[in-house]
Amino acid sequence: MVAALASFLDARKNGGAWHLRIDDIDPPREVPGSVESILSTLAVHGLHWDGPVRYQSQSSPDYERALGQLEADGWLFRCLCTRNDLKTHGACGQNCRGKVVDVNAPHSLRVIVSVSDMSGFNDGFLGFQSALGRQIPDDFIVRRRDGLFAYQLAAAIDDAVPRHTHVVRGADLLESTHRQRWLHQILGLTSPHYAHVPVIVDENGNKLSKQTGAEAINLSTPIATLRRCLAHLSQTPPPPSALSIEDILDHATAYWTGTL
Ligand SMILES: [Zn+2]
Repeated sequence: MVAALASFLDARKNGGAWHLRIDDIDPPREVPGSVESILSTLAVHGLHWDGPVRYQSQSSPDYERALGQLEADGWLFRCLCTRNDLKTHGACGQNCRGKVVDVNAPHSLRVIVSVSDMSGFNDGFLGFQSALGRQIPDDFIVRRRDGLFAYQLAAAIDDAVPRHTHVVRGADLLESTHRQRWLHQILGLTSPHYAHVPVIVDENGNKLSKQTGAEAINLSTPIATLRRCLAHLSQTPPPPSALSIEDILDHATAYWTGTL
């Protein structure tokens, strides 16, 4: 909700359109009803998106084309590692790069990474971000062992659509941004502007999410939720006279001090 609100306000403040994309490329992990729940949660909080919802599950040809280009340009290699073989951060654990691998053996596809060639970027909230010194795994996976497209590939391709000028999302994705920008770089795509907002964490510093057992957002108190999200984003609190969702969002848009 924090990331959705921040990106919504940033788009509204700057006269942009706010597009909604559902990253549904991992059917084994999909929870039935979760997409409907996301759409209704946004709507209940007055966050209405522009244009049709884009579903990644319908974009396979785009991802396939990108993989073909990476393969043709010599950026990919086959990795035979199973989960048990991987090093920290999911890195290849058996030096699969450079090995001749039977194409019929189960494998993932990894992209060759050169952190020293990664360009930094100006983040809308965090200022300049360099890839150097960050824990960016070498040679990350772009197609999984089970044949599914990896999140990094799909997000990189979709974010680089020319009409997408700004991506506002949680700071937990900062490392992913470096990887996705690397894909843009070697594919010759233009990266959008990025802004990473602070995520909400529990007492142990873990991001609140379904994976860590966080409860769903209470849909009966949208105004209170919006106010809490604005406070988390260090925004000017809407006055007590702002009593409707529309009032809150109008005020928040007018006073938005978001991205650079
Ligand atoms: Zn490997």
